[in-house]
Amino acid sequence: MEKIDRRSFLKTTGAAAAGAALVAGGCAPRAKENGNGSVPSAAKDDSVLDTGKMELRTNEGNGDRVSLLGYGCMRFTMKKDKDGRDVVDQENANTLIDYALAHGVNYYDTSPVYLQGQSEDVTGIALSRHPRTSYYIATKLSNFSNASHEASMKMYNDSFRALRTDYIDYYLLHSLGRGGLELFDSRFVSNGMMDFLQKEREKGKVRQLGLSFHGNKDQFDQLLTLHDKYHWDFVQIQMNYYDWLHADGVRNVNAEYLYEELDKRGIPIVIMEPLQGGRLASVAEGVARMLKERDPLASAASWAFRFVGSYPRVLTALSGMVYMEHLKDNLKTFMDFVPLSDEEKRFLSVDLADVMANYPTVNCNDCNYCMPCPYGVDIPGIFKHYNKCINEGTYAKDSAQEGYRKLRRAYLVSYDRAVESLRQAEHCITCNQCSVHCPQSIAIPRELHRIEAYVEKLRRNEL
Ligand code: SF4
Ligand code: SF4
Repeated sequence: MEKIDRRSFLKTTGAAAAGAALVAGGCAPRAKENGNGSVPSAAKDDSVLDTGKMELRTNEGNGDRVSLLGYGCMRFTMKKDKDGRDVVDQENANTLIDYALAHGVNYYDTSPVYLQGQSEDVTGIALSRHPRTSYYIATKLSNFSNASHEASMKMYNDSFRALRTDYIDYYLLHSLGRGGLELFDSRFVSNGMMDFLQKEREKGKVRQLGLSFHGNKDQFDQLLTLHDKYHWDFVQIQMNYYDWLHADGVRNVNAEYLYEELDKRGIPIVIMEPLQGGRLASVAEGVARMLKERDPLASAASWAFRFVGSYPRVLTALSGMVYMEHLKDNLKTFMDFVPLSDEEKRFLSVDLADVMANYPTVNCNDCNYCMPCPYGVDIPGIFKHYNKCINEGTYAKDSAQEGYRKLRRAYLVSYDRAVESLRQAEHCITCNQCSVHCPQSIAIPRELHRIEAYVEKLRRNEL
């Protein structure tokens, strides 16, 4: 693969800010604050992309200077290849990664299982066109389906090949928590992988060894007790202003607890789901109004990113940016980053989250891990359509409601357009094959039946 030299890199990306990516500099200067500790977003127009500096955080464990915005490489656009198969659009991925690098994003998170197994290769192709020292690679041992020593070793070695590298900066044991220490033991200890990975860390093949967490409080506490034995260099958690205090305790844990426990131990934190699977980027109308009253020009996503970025132990916050407009909006937030005041943090995590808790959306982040359903149900498509209607206020609540007839019709028509009839919720037979794969612990058949019952009432006009 052809390397991009610095001159053509700057030329193709128009990157006045390339230095932020290639040089580990000091913290970005703060923009001028208003009385609230906040900068009006009107001041943050596109010019920040030419002149601003990416916020960098120092990993106290090894001195890495990591961009506060990290690239989650699990959602690039797909296209059909000549045999009609879905493949990632490599050119588009290259363009996005070039632009991100040029504007200081230096942390790239992937996994052997993302994008139907294509993510590491696509990310490796895009990144290897740049100097290896200009970015950090994070990938994972995602040995979910076969945790034998041979299969795990193959997955580990394949990652190096796909990513075209001879060392991995941040290596994660993928999705620990559920299944407790028993599952941790079978996936990583009894097969010899923990011993192996610790030796790899000593040799520098793996620079930092950590884990990503999905589970409940007890499981989190158990994993932290292993810190003395294994020394987790970093931990990746789900953190956003909604889950700060409103996690359900079963599916996930209040991020405030996770953050504080890691902070106490001085463990650097990588954030996943800062937008709660996109829910905080396209919020319900009432919630959007509350945000607009504070700042008419700031995007909903920018509030969510500023929330996680305002906590100093956070090393980087991952965002799966599919389109250039998402990338640019995020860059505006993270270049010349302005943390939230304590009052703003409370507003988001208490006032706004309380309002959001009353909207019956499904916490699906469209990751597709539950697919395919053997009965053809389009699980993420159904949840996406349902959430969109609720968030946009095009959701009929009862027949006495003003505009009910119009809302009823709009829901049914848009549902048929969004999800073909053979793939709608009524075709779920509750076989339960999908739920085990859902990182959000959504009771998928139960939620599908709830939506199905709602749609049935709309169809019969019996709401
Ligand atoms: S429970 Fe329903 S949605 Fe899930 S795999 Fe079975 S049929 Fe498909
Ligand atoms: S239901 Fe769960 S596994 Fe399926 S797309 Fe949504 S979040 Fe992912």
